[in-house]
Amino acid sequence: MSASSNTLRDFAARLLDYEGALVERIEPEGLEILAPAPVAEVLQIPELARLGFAAELPERAERVGLESDWLERFGSLLGEYGRGARVTLPVALPPLTNPERIVEHTLSLPNAVYRLLGTAPAWTRYLVMLFRVTAFSDEKREGLVKLGFNLANGSVLDPIVDELLSTALETADMRVAPPPHRQLPSDWAQAELKARVARALPERVEAHLAPFLIGMQRRLERDLVRVHDYFDGLRAESLLRLRKEGTATEPDIARERLRLEAIAREYEAKVADLRQKYALSVDVAWSQTLEIVMPVVRLELLIKRRKGERKIMLDWNPLARKLDIPPCEWSYTRNAVRLVCDDRLHLISPAAHAPCTSCEKAYCRACHPLQCPKCH
Ligand SMILES: [Zn+2]
Ligand SMILES: [Zn+2]
Repeated sequence: MSASSNTLRDFAARLLDYEGALVERIEPEGLEILAPAPVAEVLQIPELARLGFAAELPERAERVGLESDWLERFGSLLGEYGRGARVTLPVALPPLTNPERIVEHTLSLPNAVYRLLGTAPAWTRYLVMLFRVTAFSDEKREGLVKLGFNLANGSVLDPIVDELLSTALETADMRVAPPPHRQLPSDWAQAELKARVARALPERVEAHLAPFLIGMQRRLERDLVRVHDYFDGLRAESLLRLRKEGTATEPDIARERLRLEAIAREYEAKVADLRQKYALSVDVAWSQTLEIVMPVVRLELLIKRRKGERKIMLDWNPLARKLDIPPCEWSYTRNAVRLVCDDRLHLISPAAHAPCTSCEKAYCRACHPLQCPKCH
């Protein structure tokens, strides 16, 4: 019995109950459901259905898991417009006894200094987007990539997103109202959100596909070696026959030469086939967005770089008991080291402050998104 499957069962039971279905728990780790027709239709199940949440399924049950498309199906039921949902998690905030230490632990600013100005309880909105990733090669691989932002400051949620999501599924009460709007960070403009997602997503998709790519590379190399060994064997035999000069006649030699050429051509063709077979295409499609509204402890920091200074906020999440990693205001990477730029004190990852490829001068990509300021 695993915690996550139980959590998902509880979530499904609560959600279905909320939507007016009759829900009964059956063992091992399943649900029997009598669902109103519209609910059954959204979930793509018969009106009387059995769902199983663990490796061992109840009789005649359909399997439900986080890695299948069930999150999407539940999402369709949750969301007012099918693909977005908001849940409020009124978690109690414990007092932070040593916020300085927490900041020291998380914040790595090699070229700037900072001072903690204060801490205060606050509410934030987290946006968690799920993307379905499908990779096609000699095999097909499907999976979900999660990308989340703290709307208060742009921090990415990689270190806490699993915990947020599972707690949201476990304890979310669809009937709890969020606090008044003025206490919450506001929406990002659609274009801004899109730009940030576009820069943040490739890194996560690559990390998600890394094991698949390694496996694919291994299979490709194995096939290349096998093809090479096979044709190398044919070639060696042919060469051996050519070298038996004493017995080989002119027509024999001519025939062997043709054979050798044909072997070389066929080898090239086989290698090209393999490259084709293992060519990779990746499809990434947004599937849904969950907004999680919850209390946090907000830390205000003053960052100083040369003569400049700038205030930033980082939120401490009471569920994961972790402080936001500061956003890279260009790449939204999940790596945590940040530099502070000279001109506008942007927080950026070392990669977003890398040297220009032509003049080798380092510059801030958040200040100069299009081109290097020195050589253009
Ligand atoms: Zn340059
Ligand atoms: Zn900058």
